[in-house]
Amino acid sequence: MNDLRRLPSVDRLLQTPQAENWIRQYGRTLTLSAIRAALEQIRQGANLPASSASEEPLFRLVEDHLTRWTQLTLQPVINATGVILHTNLGRAPLSPSALQSIQTCASGYSTLEFDVTTGKRGKREIHAQQILTRLIGAEDALVVNNNAAAVLLALSALARRKPVIISRTQLVEIGGGFRVPEVMKQSGAKLIEIGTTNRVHLSDYENALQNHPGALILHAHHSNFRLIGFASEPELTDITALARQYQTIVIDDLGSGALLDTAPFGLEHEPTVQESLQAGCDLVCFSGDKLLGGPQAGILVGKADLLSKIKKHPLARAVRADKLCLAALAATLLHYLKDEALTEIPVWQMIAVSREEIRQRALNWQNRLGFGEVISGLSTVGGGSLPEETLPTWLLALSVPKADGFLARLREGSPAIIARIENDRVVFDPRTVFPQQDEELLTKLQGLLASHT
Ligand SMILES: *Cc1c(COP(=O)(O)O)cnc(C)c1O
Repeated sequence: MNDLRRLPSVDRLLQTPQAENWIRQYGRTLTLSAIRAALEQIRQGANLPASSASEEPLFRLVEDHLTRWTQLTLQPVINATGVILHTNLGRAPLSPSALQSIQTCASGYSTLEFDVTTGKRGKREIHAQQILTRLIGAEDALVVNNNAAAVLLALSALARRKPVIISRTQLVEIGGGFRVPEVMKQSGAKLIEIGTTNRVHLSDYENALQNHPGALILHAHHSNFRLIGFASEPELTDITALARQYQTIVIDDLGSGALLDTAPFGLEHEPTVQESLQAGCDLVCFSGDKLLGGPQAGILVGKADLLSKIKKHPLARAVRADKLCLAALAATLLHYLKDEALTEIPVWQMIAVSREEIRQRALNWQNRLGFGEVISGLSTVGGGSLPEETLPTWLLALSVPKADGFLARLREGSPAIIARIENDRVVFDPRTVFPQQDEELLTKLQGLLASHT
């Protein structure tokens, strides 16, 4: 085989039983490309075993190409990090009924933009809007692609060429390239910065409103950082009261947009959407896949006249939510409406699960493996919310040589297992591992512990 003159022709290879198999499995076009690529590799001097008088090594190359080319890069993983809203791992896992809703609406046709009563064209906006307005008590609601799009759209529609007042304490970068000042500029708004990095006063707002007639106010939640020490900001209700005197609009970029109070679970209180509206904000923007626990989405709720302007802006069409998102979001919101969010929405289940239940699972893991130690530790909410806030948890800690190498081997194969290292030990937090993943996790761990040196 290393003798190039003896390389088989593409045509002859296509006649082999192996090729017939590949064609059945991968299709003719891809098989042909893989055979050509493999032959080319050999001509270029790919290192084949010296004993390869057979065509076996060539076949293996073809097989390699075919598996690599058809392997999906978006794959499920087991999240044993204890970070509930892990942005790199896809933020919020969906509830069974959100998945069911996607399945039933997307496997066939749906009422996405069809009114079955009239038999005429309907509006895609209504699907989440009706539940949202009932749930939150807002006049109107709109769902777009993500919260970054929601903020950009709101400012583009309401504040183009207009001054927008924002405190320097709130010029935040959220991660993934979302920077409040840059999004504001992109919308065509004129940024009016007030206050200092650590402090802003109501009088700063008042001065700015006097100096910039027709200005809007943008309030942005700090989300992923904390303002501590010699720092202060006026209450949101004071800002909105002032805004009413000047007949100006207050937009609140809430980020995570919790609909439930996080305080009963030993976490700091994350401002809720309802509170923001009650405080008198005219428009509130938040994410669908942070503490709401649904699909990626940006949600705008508030005054009907503002939302009607926003819906008519050309960007609204460019950032509209798709049917999969709407199906999952409406089903997720229903859990809140039916008072079952804590038991049905995975993110809230993980926040609410008892410490004892977590300890029991960690002990079960330890029993199965006959190895490791169950130690107390900390989980976090993550996803750019509740910074520094932790939930006490129990971890299974494994003392293995070369912990880094062990972590890397955990990530091989499918599903990859994502864990972390604490004090040189590899630790696994049951809080973010679904019970139905235990078997895969433990089987893999048993295999690795038997072979890792
Ligand atoms: C997370 C966040 C965003 C961005 O939301 P995405 O849904 O990720 O686009 C914007 N603003 C704030 C305050 C946030 O916390």
